[in-house]
Amino acid sequence: MAVRLLSKVKCLPGIQGVVYASASAAPAQLSDFELQHKTPVIRKQKNIPIAQYGGRHAVTMLPGGGIGPECMGYVREIFKYIGAPIDFELVNIDPNVDNDDDVQYAITTIKRNGVGLKGNIETKSEAAYVTSRNVALRNELDMYAYVLNCKSFPGVNTRHKDIDIVIIRQNTEGEYAMLEHESVRGVIESMKVVTASNSERVARFAFEFAKRNGRKKVTTVHKANIMKLSDGLFLETSRRMAQEYPDIEHNDMIIDNCCMQLVARPHQFDVMLMTNLYGSIVSNVVCGLLGGAGLLSGRNYGDHYAVFEPGTRNTGTAIAGKNIANPIAMINASVDMLEHLGHHYHAGLIRRALDKTINIDRVITPDCGGTASSSEVVDSIIKNIGRC
Ligand code: ADP
Ligand code: MG
Repeated sequence: MAVRLLSKVKCLPGIQGVVYASASAAPAQLSDFELQHKTPVIRKQKNIPIAQYGGRHAVTMLPGGGIGPECMGYVREIFKYIGAPIDFELVNIDPNVDNDDDVQYAITTIKRNGVGLKGNIETKSEAAYVTSRNVALRNELDMYAYVLNCKSFPGVNTRHKDIDIVIIRQNTEGEYAMLEHESVRGVIESMKVVTASNSERVARFAFEFAKRNGRKKVTTVHKANIMKLSDGLFLETSRRMAQEYPDIEHNDMIIDNCCMQLVARPHQFDVMLMTNLYGSIVSNVVCGLLGGAGLLSGRNYGDHYAVFEPGTRNTGTAIAGKNIANPIAMINASVDMLEHLGHHYHAGLIRRALDKTINIDRVITPDCGGTASSSEVVDSIIKNIGRC
């Protein structure tokens, strides 16, 4: 089946099989954006760089819209309290302008710093040529893998207890290719782009993640019964990758059934691997199972850069400025970032204080059934730092 499906997928002549060791080895006239989109088989194989001066790290901070700025304020407050060795480079992106100067500047600073912390950036323009800033950022930085750790919080009351799932999502193509056009009047076509190279590297990422983190099973989620070529390629690639990891069990599940299984019997899942749009939907389903939009954090990874953000990617515009937003998702994202940079001591300080605040003291915002304000949660975390 693999051979049959793969043989149906057309590759651009002259591009098939081309792999450059680094972006600089590729044809000079191509920008990073073009390398990503026009020649997706070209891989960049440098380590993620990090800016570090005297033991401190510079990190790009993109507060985004809605509750983003207030949540970043909480992160700053906690970082200041513990003396985290991080210097934030703040970049505000104006959601109302049609040009992408702010986004390009943000991308430049992430390239310089190697690491970013972001809220959800709004794109207010409805003009078709103005694309989502969040998607542009992930694409231009080639952050092809997204990881969402979904672990139950004992202090948050939910139907299912003790869920421990990791979602790994292809983060740069699929339904998010942003290639739509009106072929004839009244007929819109939207392209879902699945490439062998991106499917392969996200599958490799998932199995490597499972291996390194002592996980037992990877489930590929797809709709290959209907989208036989695109999802078929993704599924076949993950099956092929599974053969290289005989110690890790591999199965697959159709997306519809997967959603039903998740809400009915979530404990059957360990690591889940999927394309971009399914990843967005399934992430939100699991966040809902664990207590909503305000808890989990997500991580965007490429070969060069890493960006950390709240897991459901909501703006929370309706609750902005009311001191009721759950600050935990953004604080968790900042802890992920500290760990990524190797600041385990500071990460541990916050992680333990956060754990005590939610699971023992039960200082929780209304979205998770509590009565505390955002600032009361943050005050409680600060009070618990160094005491647990
Ligand atoms: P989107 O940005 O996709 O339009 P919303 O911003 O409307 O989504 O968020 C979806 C829901 O999740 C809303 O009910 C919002 O209030 C809630 N939500 C999002 N983030 C948080 C948070 N940090 N704390 C509490 N509720 C949140
Ligand atoms: Mg919104």
